[in-house]
Amino acid sequence: MRPRRQTRPVQIGSSFVGGEAPISVQAMTKTDTRNIEATIEQIRTLEEAGAEIIRLAIPDMEAAEALKSIKKAATVPLVADIHFNHQLALKALEYGIDKLRINPGNIGDEVKVKRVVNEAKARGVPIRIGVNAGSLEKDLLYKYGRTPEAMVESALGHIAILERLSFYDTIVSLKASDVITTVKAYELLAEKVDYPFHLGITEAGTRWAGTIKSSVGIGYLLAQGIGDTLRVSLTGDTIEEVKVGFEILASLDIRHTKPEIVSCPTCGRLEYDMLKVVEEIEQRMTALDIPLKIAIMGCAVNGPGESLEADLGLAGGYNTAMLFRKGEMIKKIPQENMVEELWQEILALANDTKK
Ligand code: SF4
Repeated sequence: MRPRRQTRPVQIGSSFVGGEAPISVQAMTKTDTRNIEATIEQIRTLEEAGAEIIRLAIPDMEAAEALKSIKKAATVPLVADIHFNHQLALKALEYGIDKLRINPGNIGDEVKVKRVVNEAKARGVPIRIGVNAGSLEKDLLYKYGRTPEAMVESALGHIAILERLSFYDTIVSLKASDVITTVKAYELLAEKVDYPFHLGITEAGTRWAGTIKSSVGIGYLLAQGIGDTLRVSLTGDTIEEVKVGFEILASLDIRHTKPEIVSCPTCGRLEYDMLKVVEEIEQRMTALDIPLKIAIMGCAVNGPGESLEADLGLAGGYNTAMLFRKGEMIKKIPQENMVEELWQEILALANDTKK
């Protein structure tokens, strides 16, 4: 692991991205923003899952108007994702949006860019420049092709527009749908600016392939010390994106905010339906926001070893399983009660940890 790249802290609502701020996990709603009720409902679910910043697509004025009610219902900072239309950005700012995702170079007219940037500055609202390999400027494509260099030059162009207007509360993302291009682009830009980076692999794919792609790309960059906030994009459930984001941070020992399960791959020594226990416990733990390490192991051969390292450990056996708390075996539990007894112990430990 390399030390974290030094970036300027940028305030978003009541939290920060960059500087010494913890690397945050973002989410994006998948509802039609114009459907206020459904969008608020999804924001609530995402907040419960731990999302720390939530972005909404604002495709038209009706969606921008919906922000008036949506903003009041949210507790985490909200980001308006806007393409081209400066009126939508101004409306989002009017309703108290915490951050804009807009590329100033795409707004066109300089007067319009100035209005948005000055309004954002007056309200202390940061702007994320989101360069996407799929929508690069034609001249850059002609000059470089769809390459990391083209992405970096595109980002520098947008940054220059903001800097000319003395705007520095900027966050940058450089997303491509393949890992190598994305990684290279972030590495190149990291040498040139000190703005915080929002990491992500765009259109990463399905839950299965997208999780792997995102973990490799985002994980690699984080291990290089690059990245201040992240969003995992998957085709599917938005909650999964948040879970994967936290899992990436936990697996690199960057942040532990949620309980994690350490479980063995199982083999011929397995003596109970371990998968069922793991899935049930994992499901129940999604509501907990305490970093506990729970080991669920298949047998008494390797099980106790791992269990000793964990806050709670279960080493399964034919009829009974051994339950360990902080390295000590506290009881044996019959197979039919494994889930319930382990869950009660997790809740008790979570309560003790909170005190
Ligand atoms: S803990 Fe036991 S069941 Fe699990 S993989 Fe190791 S030997 Fe096999």
